[in-house]
Amino acid sequence: MSVLEPGKSVIVIGGGVIGVSTAVHLARGGAEVTLVTESELASGASGRSLSWLNSAGERSAAYHALRMSGIDRYRTLFAKDPQRDWLCFDGGLYWSAEEPQAVLARHAHERSHGYDSHLVDASNLVTTTPGVDPQAIGTPSIFNPGEGWVSLPELIEYLSEEFRCLGGRLVEHAGWASVLIGQDQRVRGVATSKAGEFTAGAVLVACGPQTAKVIEPLGVTIPDASPLSMLVLTEPMPMAPKAVLNTPRVAMRPCPGSRLALDHDWYEALIEEGEDGECRIDRSVVEQLVDEASSVLDGGERLAPASWKLGRKPIPGDGEPVFGELAEVPGCFVAFTHSGATLALIAGELLAGEILTGERHPMLGSFRPERFTRPG
Ligand SMILES: Cc1cc2nc3c(=O)[nH]c(=O)nc-3n(C[C@H](O)[C@H](O)[C@H](O)COP(=O)(O)OP(=O)(O)OC[C@H]3O[C@@H](n4cnc5c(N)ncnc54)[C@H](O)[C@@H]3O)c2cc1C
Repeated sequence: MSVLEPGKSVIVIGGGVIGVSTAVHLARGGAEVTLVTESELASGASGRSLSWLNSAGERSAAYHALRMSGIDRYRTLFAKDPQRDWLCFDGGLYWSAEEPQAVLARHAHERSHGYDSHLVDASNLVTTTPGVDPQAIGTPSIFNPGEGWVSLPELIEYLSEEFRCLGGRLVEHAGWASVLIGQDQRVRGVATSKAGEFTAGAVLVACGPQTAKVIEPLGVTIPDASPLSMLVLTEPMPMAPKAVLNTPRVAMRPCPGSRLALDHDWYEALIEEGEDGECRIDRSVVEQLVDEASSVLDGGERLAPASWKLGRKPIPGDGEPVFGELAEVPGCFVAFTHSGATLALIAGELLAGEILTGERHPMLGSFRPERFTRPG
């Protein structure tokens, strides 16, 4: 693995939460960092994410460990100022349309590796998640008290402020950025369509669902399975539940301004994407999602949609994160992941460490890009 010489510069492409988190960790570590992004910060998936902080369900042990460390870093941030309205830990409530056995198996799996997981039903719901209609929930349901949520635009603003204070250079509205490589195949910088060229000893490509497209010209293929998605924000609803809810037809969490953020996947096929990448959906689908949310709330009050955003949700082809240096292009690193809200702080920390020291962190060992290009 290539080592960045002391004092050398790093360019981060992508102003989403992964890029900004890595940039600030690099700056904390003493690197000279330039962050270039196509338009403004948080204009991609991070600006329209449910951002449930969790390690629920069944995933690989390595993914679970990384997500738990991700939650740990948020806990530290939370402890510094529990009054923030954009980072909260009030637990998560899950139920599904599957057979009860499937929910029990999920609960058993969670308990088997020490994830805080409790079965709840209509009789004890009110003590865990007030505001949810006891008649609406599944039997059984699972309450995970250690889960939370973050609003990524506010987190990005918070991190980017520190980045600027540390002397980081932020280039928004840079247009499309491409990685430049030298004759030795090593990375040498970045060319942008609107802000010129930048040279650096290392480059991180953190372009969310565009990551595979950005590295393709380097001759490196990372399978991309990023689906179309939508996040809806409701009009203010002060009495809404504080926990994150994952239900068969809607997922929801609180949002600054007493709003709720809603998403799900049942309407993915109803989102249309134009050739220019612009997405649209019929308003009736938005209304339907909001009705699904209203139907699980206690009190019978109807929610109303205030705004909604559409676009791709970053998911690598095999569903696992892709983190680390490209074997084919020394000095060029990638970060492409789902669960990017949960992973943002830990991924930024570990990737920055790798870029600065050249030492591979064992927690990222399962997530290397070469798993797609090297047999076995
Ligand atoms: C609807 C939805 C729900 C989600 N729910 C959860 C959840 O509950 N929990 C969880 O942990 N995660 C969740 N995620 C995933 C999480 O939000 C993402 O993994 C995370 O936001 C990705 O951040 P990023 O920085 O990698 O990408 P992005 O936020 O997409 O940022 C990439 C940035 O790069 C820029 N860019 C792209 N290409 C170029 C280029 N060539 N040149 C210059 N700039 C470029 C884009 O403009 C963008 O600003 C969800 C995502 C969505 C969309």
